[in-house]
Amino acid sequence: MSLTIYRARRIRTLNPARPIATHVAVRDGIVLGAGTPEELAGWGSATRDERFADKVLLPGFVEGHTHLMEGALWRYVYVGWHDRTDPDGRVWPGARTIDHVIERLRDAQRELPHADSPLVGWGLDPIYFGNRRCTRADLDRVSDTRPVGIAHASLHILNVNSVTLRTAGWLRPGIEHPGVPLGADGLPTGEMKGPEAMGAVAERVGMDRAALAGDEEAVRRFARLCVRTGVTTATDLASPLTEEALAMLRRVTAEAAFPVRLVPLLRLLLEPVPQTIARAAALRGTTSDRLRLGRVKIVADGSIQGFSARLRAPGYLDGAPNGLWYVAPEQLAQAYELALAQGVQIHTHTNGDEATQLALDTLEAALAKHPRPDHRFTLQHCQLADRAQMRRMKTLGMAVNLFANHHFYWGDEHYRLTVGPERAERMNACRSALEAGVPMAIHSDAPVTPMAPLFTAWCAVNRLTASGRVQGEHERIDIPEALHAITLGPAHTLHLDGEIGSIETGKRADFAVLEADPFEADAHALRDIPVWGTVQGGRVFAAGQA
Ligand SMILES: [Zn+2]
Repeated sequence: MSLTIYRARRIRTLNPARPIATHVAVRDGIVLGAGTPEELAGWGSATRDERFADKVLLPGFVEGHTHLMEGALWRYVYVGWHDRTDPDGRVWPGARTIDHVIERLRDAQRELPHADSPLVGWGLDPIYFGNRRCTRADLDRVSDTRPVGIAHASLHILNVNSVTLRTAGWLRPGIEHPGVPLGADGLPTGEMKGPEAMGAVAERVGMDRAALAGDEEAVRRFARLCVRTGVTTATDLASPLTEEALAMLRRVTAEAAFPVRLVPLLRLLLEPVPQTIARAAALRGTTSDRLRLGRVKIVADGSIQGFSARLRAPGYLDGAPNGLWYVAPEQLAQAYELALAQGVQIHTHTNGDEATQLALDTLEAALAKHPRPDHRFTLQHCQLADRAQMRRMKTLGMAVNLFANHHFYWGDEHYRLTVGPERAERMNACRSALEAGVPMAIHSDAPVTPMAPLFTAWCAVNRLTASGRVQGEHERIDIPEALHAITLGPAHTLHLDGEIGSIETGKRADFAVLEADPFEADAHALRDIPVWGTVQGGRVFAAGQA
């Protein structure tokens, strides 16, 4: 029952009744109150902790759409175009040309033990190379003895070298597969698209599926990244949650020094719908403070930049065929009905506006059969929703988690290539969501883009694209709104807003410890505010020592 009073330069509580304080009293991982030392004196004798005297405390950030895979990928070589910080704080400069990518892989292979040890890079995005595709000839320059692969930033494509194709039996003429493009010589170019084609070669290059879903090492790496970015609660938004993975998560999150609360969502994928919903319902009763279970994730369509998202008319700008359903509409209906009946919450990935429309129609019908107040079914990404769809989300009791980072990384391509200027300007419509009254969060979808909530807030506030244009001025939100969208907003989508998301009496003592006050930051500097570390459940974690 030890009581600690932390002094800070400033505490931004996000509790409107008491928005600013200098001290916060914490006992057993719970906030007793924020205020002046005099106001907190009534709680009894306390240890005074001065280490944050020159820091600014905010509620711990909540990353409502990320993946433990972010932790797994750092075992491979980063070759993305943008600079990126790894969990140990090392900044990897962007690889700005194919030659640079090759060079980095060549450097990395010097560390490998054998001439045939596989080598994997990740983060490639041909969009930044004028859409010049990487080929097996490129990767053969890295090695013609070992399997070499590069996963794209989207994680929907894997490029491999000739050795990999040959040993997997794919380096031959006569292949007809939509995910395997052929070169002028009639042989595969080495680009393997989609789960099936990727799956045929992934393990040969050393991309281990179980490890990508998050093994112990990945979880620890992921947790270090959370501390470094001020995150105290993070989802894993598509977990198979095998018995083995669950046992590992229970063990690791229970460790006294594990710094983050994990919320893995069970992905509907291979098992029948009723089984998934029942499994999620059963998992609810087995949660701990740092491992929250019992929610389901469904992916309705693909990605917009991959032209696999489902769009309503008039579709893609260049007339490309409509995208793919990743779930059958009947499956979605069955899942929504069973989930509502059993009180299981569902988060649905909808990138295209036709996918969003399907989710809205399906939920409306399911609610007519199984009314359930406060279900908070949440649309994830929901990048192309228009204002009418936002209003329907509100009416149906939904929440939305918009992909603010995406706008920076792919906004230019959407403007020029995929959906054209008008829809590009309304993508990830934060302002529209707020005006419609839809509870809103913003996210990174790491590893697709880097997890760093202050960067995500910067994206939503500025709406800059990678080329430096402001795209969709009207959908910008202000700094307080953006900070809400990385704390209380995502907490709401997880039904955790009564426990986390603000610093106030009775809530978990989860803080992001910052070197400057984001409320006073210049909008353009928001992403540059250094994060000292976190306090999670009353335990202090310094990024430098994580
Ligand atoms: Zn995701």
